[in-house]
Amino acid sequence: MFFSEIPGLEDVKKILINSVTTNHSAHAIMFLGKSGSANLTLALAYATFINCEDKKGEDSCGVCPSCVKMNKFIHPDFHFLMPTPGKIDGDAEQAKLLADWRLFLLSNTYSDHTAWGQALGAENKQLGIKIDEARKLVASLTLKAFEGEYKIALIWLPEFMNNAAANMLLKTLEEPSEKTIFLLVCNDIEKVIVTIQSRCQPIYIRDFEDHEILAYLEKKGIDKPIAQKATYIGNGNLQEALDFVQKGGTSENHIAQFRDWMRLCFN
Ligand SMILES: [Zn+2]
Repeated sequence: MFFSEIPGLEDVKKILINSVTTNHSAHAIMFLGKSGSANLTLALAYATFINCEDKKGEDSCGVCPSCVKMNKFIHPDFHFLMPTPGKIDGDAEQAKLLADWRLFLLSNTYSDHTAWGQALGAENKQLGIKIDEARKLVASLTLKAFEGEYKIALIWLPEFMNNAAANMLLKTLEEPSEKTIFLLVCNDIEKVIVTIQSRCQPIYIRDFEDHEILAYLEKKGIDKPIAQKATYIGNGNLQEALDFVQKGGTSENHIAQFRDWMRLCFN
């Protein structure tokens, strides 16, 4: 993931880039943004930039061995912890989960937990981050870095973590081994256990502005009229705008909003 692929948010990007180029990266950062914001995408771009072997000014090179693996989410020093519908038993289930996760990220990094549940075929199950999964992450971080300068742990949606999982992570989060960076990507800080919050440096990520979503969709080759409608319906949420486009720009759920939009245009 490149910073340049993310529309707008130049101020946040600058802070993140400077922290790497001046060697002042915090060891635990909480990317706070609403669903449909760039919180996850920024964390991925940041992680890629940290381990890029040939940084190009303000972005990753995209072609070094690290970037190639980071962009496929298969770098051995890039670890993930995300909500799951239940206990992940055995290596085969773990491998299946990771394969699903990579596909999910490759298709869209602006999605939310509902889309993730659907991707897992677990729409009706409650997602959570439980102690066994947290323990696996901690164990993987005790190993020496394989290839990268840094070991990076990305925790997606820490608000899904129960107390036991949070307690398992606390010590590592507070005193990580050398060259280990935690990136937590949160949509709802109110639900994150306070002890986890207090150990992270927060980065606030605003919603997208309409012109940013519009530019993003047009760059993706979406016809302007559809892109405009999607931007209106997204209302700062890129995921919703993309959903609208994917449904051909005619989702019945959005007919009322579309009608309002037409009225607005008319006025
Ligand atoms: Zn690179």
